[in-house]
Amino acid sequence: MRSSLCTLALGVVIALSAAGCLSLSPREKSDLARQKSDAAAYLAHPTTVGQLVLHADFMLPPEHRMLTELQNERELICDRLQLKPSKEPIHVYLFSDEASYRDHVTKKFPNFPERRAIFVESDVELSVYAHWGEAVAEDLRHEVAHGYLHASIPSLPLWLDEGLAEYFEVGRGRRGVNRTHVEYLNGQLAVGGWQPNLPRLEAIKSAADMTQLDYAEGWLWVHFLLESPDGHASVLTTFLTDLYRAEPPGPLSERIRAAIPKADAAVVAHLKSLPVDAVGN
Ligand SMILES: [Zn+2]
Repeated sequence: MRSSLCTLALGVVIALSAAGCLSLSPREKSDLARQKSDAAAYLAHPTTVGQLVLHADFMLPPEHRMLTELQNERELICDRLQLKPSKEPIHVYLFSDEASYRDHVTKKFPNFPERRAIFVESDVELSVYAHWGEAVAEDLRHEVAHGYLHASIPSLPLWLDEGLAEYFEVGRGRRGVNRTHVEYLNGQLAVGGWQPNLPRLEAIKSAADMTQLDYAEGWLWVHFLLESPDGHASVLTTFLTDLYRAEPPGPLSERIRAAIPKADAAVVAHLKSLPVDAVGN
């Protein structure tokens, strides 16, 4: 069975960041409680919004701004990475509360580690599971990004899959700057706890083995390639095009080494150029 598990490795760290997240009004909370009894009925009648097929256990209007944002994320990703959009449906299973989400996911995927939201690719379906918590918007931008990426590109390297999802989870207009990662990497750099090492990231084969530092470094390489004023985006987009054509691309680190002199020093300089307090997650 072809399957992969995406995890939100930062867990509690990112959960504490309220910026960019949606919250329910008192009236919406009241409506949620009332509609909870109709959960089975709602789950049985999914709503299609663009490439997304929404299975929510509560009433979520198709025109909700979060769904609009998730729809727009498709164009953002395809434009930024020069990908051909896919029409493969991405099923989004959204639960009104964490207990319902955990109960459902634990039963359906008993061997998966506990995560706040997950993306699952199987032989038959691309699917996202999440719950309506404080960070639902960020969670869904991250997991749905995996969906759009997997729909267009087969066999994304794990570190790059996560680095791209971390880049796109911060939402439009922030140029992918993830403040949590910037602060964490700068802190680790200052105490000698980290130096860029892309071949090390490329050797990680299981999402369960990825640490907070790995997610942060994966994000940094993606941000460096896409946002550096020196213009390195084509190194990444060409690599993705080769993956799309199912041509064995070799490690991205080798292409970076060939195209960018002293890339490790350049990525550190890029990190130090990023704002740590002007842009939130
Ligand atoms: Zn992920």
